[in-house]
Amino acid sequence: MTTTPGMVCAHHHLYSTLARGMPAPPETPTSFLGILEQIWWRLDTALDLEMIRWSAMLGALEALESGTTGIVDHHESPNAIEGSLSVIEEACREVGVRVRACYGVTDRHGPDGARRGLEENRRYLSEGGSGMVGIHAAFTCEQGTLEEAAALARELGVGVHVHVAEGPEDEDCVRHLSGLTEDSWLLAHCVHLPDDHGLRGTILHQPRSNLNNSVGYANPARFDNPVALGTDGIGANMIDTFRLAYVMQRSVDVTATPDTAWGWLENGWDLIPEARNDRVTWSYDPMDPWHIAFTPSIRPLDVEVEGEAVLKEGVPTRVDAAEIRAKAREQAARLHARL
Ligand SMILES: [Zn+2]
Repeated sequence: MTTTPGMVCAHHHLYSTLARGMPAPPETPTSFLGILEQIWWRLDTALDLEMIRWSAMLGALEALESGTTGIVDHHESPNAIEGSLSVIEEACREVGVRVRACYGVTDRHGPDGARRGLEENRRYLSEGGSGMVGIHAAFTCEQGTLEEAAALARELGVGVHVHVAEGPEDEDCVRHLSGLTEDSWLLAHCVHLPDDHGLRGTILHQPRSNLNNSVGYANPARFDNPVALGTDGIGANMIDTFRLAYVMQRSVDVTATPDTAWGWLENGWDLIPEARNDRVTWSYDPMDPWHIAFTPSIRPLDVEVEGEAVLKEGVPTRVDAAEIRAKAREQAARLHARL
C-alpha cells in the first residue's frame, strides 16, 4: 500500500510560518511565559492582513508538500482581527488544503480586544466559514470571556479550540474550564494537566513544539480523552510528527509501540472527516506504522483532494510554489523589520 487518506494537522498556527529567521528577542526568555512575551506575543501584534495572507499561503503549501490536506488552525493577530479568518481560509482554498479556522480570544489587549476576537469568530462562522470558536488560554482570559466564548460556540453549534496547561503558568485552567468543556472541544498541549482533570474534548499533542518550548513531555497516553497530533505552527509534516510522538512515548515507556501514536494521527480524521476521502500517494511502500516509524525521508508524490490532483510528482498544480515562497520572503522581511 503506498496510498493513505490526506493527513490532518490538528493544531497549527499558520500565522507563525513567517517567524523562522526572525530577529532574536531583546531579552533571552528563561521561561515559557518569557517565550510567549518575548517572541509570540511580539510577533502576533506586528501582523497585518497581507502578512497573514502570505504566511497562510506558505503554510498551506508546505502542508500540501507534506501530504497534509486538513489543517485545524488557531489564529491571533491583535492589530488585524477583522477579516483575518477569511484571509486564512481563502489562502488554504487557493492552495487546495482544507482548514478549520478560529480566532484565539484573549483579554491580553483589554476587554475591547476580547470582544473583537469573539466577534471575528462569530462573523466568520455565521458567514459559513468552516471552523470553531477559539480561546487563547484560560490564564490570559477573564472568566466572563471564557463563558462568552463557550456560549458562542454552543449557539453556533461548534466546539472550542483552546490552549490548555501548555506551561506551568496555566495550572489553574481546570478550575476555570471545568463545567464549560464539551466533547467537541479541542484542548491543545495539556502538558501540565493532571491525569484526573475531568475536562471533556480531544487532547492535541505537539511533541516538537513542547520540546522547543522546554515545557516537558505531555505523555498523552495517560489521559482517557481521545488524542490527536498537531505541530503548533512548526510546519505540517504529520508523518514526521507521528515519528516524534512515537519515540517520545517510547522514551518514557519501553513497551510503547508505533500503533498508539498512529492511532493519535488517525484521530485527526474525526476532526476533518473529509480528509479521509483525499488520496496521498507516497514514495514508500508499505505505509504501515511499523515501517514509517523507522523510515525517515518518506515524501508524498501525488495528492488528490475531492478527486482533483492538487500535487503531482511533488509539484502543486493550483499555485506557483516559487511565487508563494518569494512573496512570503517579502512579507517576512516586513514583519521582521517591525520586531
Ligand atoms: Zn498552539
